[in-house]
Amino acid sequence: MLLKDRVVLISGASRGIGRAIALELAREGADIAFNYLKSKSQAQSLEEELKALGIRARASCVDICDFYAVSNWVKETKEFFGGLDILINNAGIIKDMALMFMDRQDWQEVLDTNLSGVFNLTRAAIIGFIKQKKGNIVNITSISGIVGAARQTNYAAAKAGIIGFTKALARELGVYNIRVNAVAAGFIETDMTKDLKEAYKNEILKQIPLGRFGRPEEVAKVVKFLVSDEAQYINGEVIVVDGGLTMA
Ligand code: NAP
Repeated sequence: MLLKDRVVLISGASRGIGRAIALELAREGADIAFNYLKSKSQAQSLEEELKALGIRARASCVDICDFYAVSNWVKETKEFFGGLDILINNAGIIKDMALMFMDRQDWQEVLDTNLSGVFNLTRAAIIGFIKQKKGNIVNITSISGIVGAARQTNYAAAKAGIIGFTKALARELGVYNIRVNAVAAGFIETDMTKDLKEAYKNEILKQIPLGRFGRPEEVAKVVKFLVSDEAQYINGEVIVVDGGLTMA
């Protein structure tokens, strides 16, 4: 088991990619703390599923946008599990719209959740990482933050922000034996992509060399590698998982 007895904190794991990451890391022996906002029953059932794998698990209803609530959540998690080793910043939302019609609220909500959420959680978690001179952070970003996507200026700005944040923090924390990396996902089959228009999906599919969308588990396996000791010399990197869609 790659992650036996490590304590992992994951934002937004009630559904989609976060859920797949929680299960993947739990199968490697990690204890899992995760938060959710709206999907209570899905969060509860994931908590049960994780416990059934023989690890400790704890679901908490915490809005990632709330700096103080997030800070308390980190404190409670450390008390509950007796420490914290790995942080996965995953929670995210989309509010797609052409910029000329985008209202201020949709801009702000996407930035608050996808980018400030990463600040809120990382700010709270790294104090312990620095003290213990050990820690590991993976941020989930998107190819939208690398190559852009029409109608996603808010989301692309937030996801590009995560890439800058990842690299700056990797430079800042390397000296404390803390690695910081990002995974940039392409089109992955989750609730986030299920309502895309059929014509748009078909257009994208034609451009993906592997000819299909990705599965949450395929992102989770890369996260597992990055947080394991197998990746101990990888730092400040952005690994793209998109079936070849955006290769240079
Ligand atoms: P998803 O299925 O819509 O799940 C999003 C998760 O984030 C849910 O668990 C949701 O919890 C949580 N969340 C949202 N806002 C939150 C908040 N304010 N506080 C706490 N939790 C919150 O999305 P996904 O596709 O798995 O995406 C996960 C991450 O991957 C996101 O950062 C997304 O941008 C990124 N990504 C996805 C794709 C893709 O194609 N799917 C591609 C590139 C990157 P509740 O339901 O409980 O609110």
